[in-house]
Amino acid sequence: LTSKLPDVGTSIFAVMTQLATEHGAINLAQGFPDFNPPAALTEALAHHAQGPQHQYAPMPGLPRLRELIADKTARVYGVPAPDPATDITVTSGATEALFAVITAVVRPGDEVLVLEPAYDSYAPAIRLAGGRPVYVPLSLPEFRPDWDRVRAALSPRTRLVMVNTPHNPTGAVWTDEDWQQLAALLTDSDTLLLSDEVYEHMVFDGRPHRSALHHPALRERAFVVSSFGKTYHATGWKVGYCVAAPALSAEVRRVHQFVTFAVSTLAQLAIADVLGDATSYDYLPRFMQQKRDLFGQLMRGTGFELLPSEGSYFQLARYQQLAPGLGDVEFAHRLTQEAGVAVVPVSAFYHDGTDHGLVRFCFAKQDETLQAAAERLRRFR
Ligand code: PMP
Ligand code: GLN
Repeated sequence: LTSKLPDVGTSIFAVMTQLATEHGAINLAQGFPDFNPPAALTEALAHHAQGPQHQYAPMPGLPRLRELIADKTARVYGVPAPDPATDITVTSGATEALFAVITAVVRPGDEVLVLEPAYDSYAPAIRLAGGRPVYVPLSLPEFRPDWDRVRAALSPRTRLVMVNTPHNPTGAVWTDEDWQQLAALLTDSDTLLLSDEVYEHMVFDGRPHRSALHHPALRERAFVVSSFGKTYHATGWKVGYCVAAPALSAEVRRVHQFVTFAVSTLAQLAIADVLGDATSYDYLPRFMQQKRDLFGQLMRGTGFELLPSEGSYFQLARYQQLAPGLGDVEFAHRLTQEAGVAVVPVSAFYHDGTDHGLVRFCFAKQDETLQAAAERLRRFR
């Protein structure tokens, strides 16, 4: 069989999680919380499990959940509400939303601009659609876009630009200025925008999350993707959604109906029970900032040099003091095996394996987990 993705191996998150399990390592590699979703959510799920709704949900999502997503979007961002009937599609995690959007709009030969480092599901989806990812590296040390390079990479063939803020793996958060730069470059083009905003509620130090939805000129060409897996510490529930103008959403739904058709009814019912209550998510910036700060304190004296994390639940670190000259993949394996703490090598987020000597830690963990990991890291020499 001739593979359609011959160079694609197993996702780095699965690889590092497997290695962590084999070596009894604390898994700070894969991005998921090691604590439970809010009790109101798990109780709602248990309640609905006893009820009568166990069959297919409507293809675009439960109407009540879509209404609540519309209300929340308007409330949190102070923007006109999307129309639940035409603008919102509930998907099986953000992953399916990304795949459905890319499959719906990218045609053979189209170019898709991808800022690197980038989340690992983007490029395979683009390539399966026959598109060509055009990579532009974010500039170190702050991982901000170099707008001259972005401008140079755009062409009449650019069908889609991928944005991710707050950013996985770097924690960088886009400002209004970044969005304005992008808007200026896309004016007068028919290039579309796919904005991955799954960490919308993990922004620190009083920073706002600025969405593509804030910018009218971008909003009309944007697919904005979020994930209840992130917002409710329930990555295993696989519920996300896409907000886009009616004509764009119609194309997403054409694909969504044949990828999964519909999303778990019980999970949607439970989420709808809590989403109307803003206290179910408005604590998240403070909550995750405390985790970031605790992890930062605990890491002092370990030999790792932490980079700033403005948002997401990730933290990058340099390890040169501990292993001068060692490649990041080799270092991540060594750390997992010898220190008993699993991390992700950042080169995995570059199509060509660019190695800046950085690893990614996930700090969405119980305080005890972070303490135990730091203790192991302090002993690692
Ligand atoms: N985009 C980014 C940037 C992510 O970090 C993740 C989760 N790892 C996803 C998309 C996928 O989200 P979900 O788990 O809801 O499919
Ligand atoms: N998004 C998570 C991360 O970045 C992992 C998702 C996955 O394992 N596919 O770690």
